[in-house]
Amino acid sequence: MMATPESRIDTESIATLKSEMHGDLIDAKHAGYVDACALWNGMIAKRPALIARCANTEDVVRSVKFAREQGLALSVRGGGHSVAGNALVDDGLVVDLSGMRDVSVDPEQRVAHAGGGATWGDFDTATHAHGLATTGGQISSTGIAGLTLGGGFGWLMRSYGMACDNLIGAEVVTADGSVLNVNDSENADLLWGLRGGGGNFGVVTRFDFRLHPVHTVLGGMIVHPIERAPESLRFLRDFNRTAPDDLAVFAALMTTPEGDRVNAFILCYSGDLDEGQEVIKPLLEWGEPVMTQVGPMPYTQMQTLMDEAMPPGLQIYWRGEFIKTLTDDVIDTLIERFGTITSPLSLLLLEQFGGAVSRVPKDATAFVHRDAEYNVAMISRWEDPSQHDSHVSWARETHDAIRPFSAGAYVNYLGEEGEDRIRAAYGPDTYDRLAKLKAKYDPENVFKANQNIQPAR
Ligand SMILES: Cc1cc2nc3c(=O)[nH]c(=O)nc-3n(C[C@H](O)[C@H](O)[C@H](O)COP(=O)(O)OP(=O)(O)OC[C@H]3O[C@@H](n4cnc5c(N)ncnc54)[C@H](O)[C@@H]3O)c2cc1C
Repeated sequence: MMATPESRIDTESIATLKSEMHGDLIDAKHAGYVDACALWNGMIAKRPALIARCANTEDVVRSVKFAREQGLALSVRGGGHSVAGNALVDDGLVVDLSGMRDVSVDPEQRVAHAGGGATWGDFDTATHAHGLATTGGQISSTGIAGLTLGGGFGWLMRSYGMACDNLIGAEVVTADGSVLNVNDSENADLLWGLRGGGGNFGVVTRFDFRLHPVHTVLGGMIVHPIERAPESLRFLRDFNRTAPDDLAVFAALMTTPEGDRVNAFILCYSGDLDEGQEVIKPLLEWGEPVMTQVGPMPYTQMQTLMDEAMPPGLQIYWRGEFIKTLTDDVIDTLIERFGTITSPLSLLLLEQFGGAVSRVPKDATAFVHRDAEYNVAMISRWEDPSQHDSHVSWARETHDAIRPFSAGAYVNYLGEEGEDRIRAAYGPDTYDRLAKLKAKYDPENVFKANQNIQPAR
């Protein structure tokens, strides 16, 4: 049972806000309150005083102003996937954008405009109808907002850059309730900050993305027995180093639903399909896979391939670290740590970067990890909340083992890990630039339920 917070806000003000909003205002007595507090990470149990389910930009402006007038802490909810649970804030007001999920596509200009609460499922469905796509998250329920604002990797990034590299404009409601148009010529400094600087500068009510011709891809999974992992991961490392940009292959150390520990290659080739068949031949021919399921499929199918494996509601503790070079030591450390998993739901992921991501200058966006070869995700998952300690310890110890090889942290994978980790995610130069931008657009740090950048003084 979830205890509900006592509201300290006067009922008259709440009634006024409710009457002015086009969307819904949800308080602890509302029948939808518990559902509105549910996040992807089932471990988060925050209890906001009010959830403003906004229907449009006007609602967002009203809600931000209301929170400030009432002295309430403020959070912003996009897709609700932040593992730290930053979409919600205890006793405060949540600007919930889940009612703003429209996506419109201009196929001539190859541009999509998406509401701040859209998911990648919403986005991919809309753009796929025109044979177009942009780099986006690999689980369809993830929000376009949080993912893009922190960088955003996905299957297409080696051809087209990160999600943030494809962000060409936005509408932003700032801390004083102003509505700003953001693009290359208006508030361009803010566009730089939105490309990796997180939700620090305001509520993004609309995202504009550049699109690319992508329709049918070659995708799927090749599964090797865990006993061959020392060789299969070395093979993949060497293969990936010369692979074309149109191919991305991630590796997972995981347990199948049948209980077998395996090393899976998950791949997506987004170029010419005939060429792709040739490119992936060595992957298909290596070793003796226990399962191979690879073939042409619509991009939207590729984008939902892993949904079932990543359901909402489990207890999650997640750590991440970029690595510049996938050395034998990193591979051996990962295999050794996987041998000690405390739950069959836990997994280790090697996410391949490079290609177009590495060709964007480091200072062009607030996402700086342009020369990483991989990101390592260390994901501890379990069902029983009483077993928290051992599963959290496994993720922390795995992280300690990987940290000596670290090239920095991915801001979108941070939990509540403290200011030093946020600084490390940006590096000193970018952090300082973000801090100055924060001082310009949110000097009082109204937007702090996030991986927070302190305003420069
Ligand atoms: C199952 C799963 C799969 C993932 N897959 C990928 C992946 O493929 N690639 C990748 O790069 N990352 C991935 N991630 C990490 C993901 O990028 C982050 O969790 C991201 O924060 C999710 O965004 P969201 O909008 O769903 O989250 P939320 O929890 O809603 O928001 C995250 C943060 O962004 C802020 N925010 C949200 N919406 C807005 C807005 N409109 N304006 C301003 N601030 C806002 C929030 O306040 C919060 O601080 C994945 C995470 C999960 C749990």
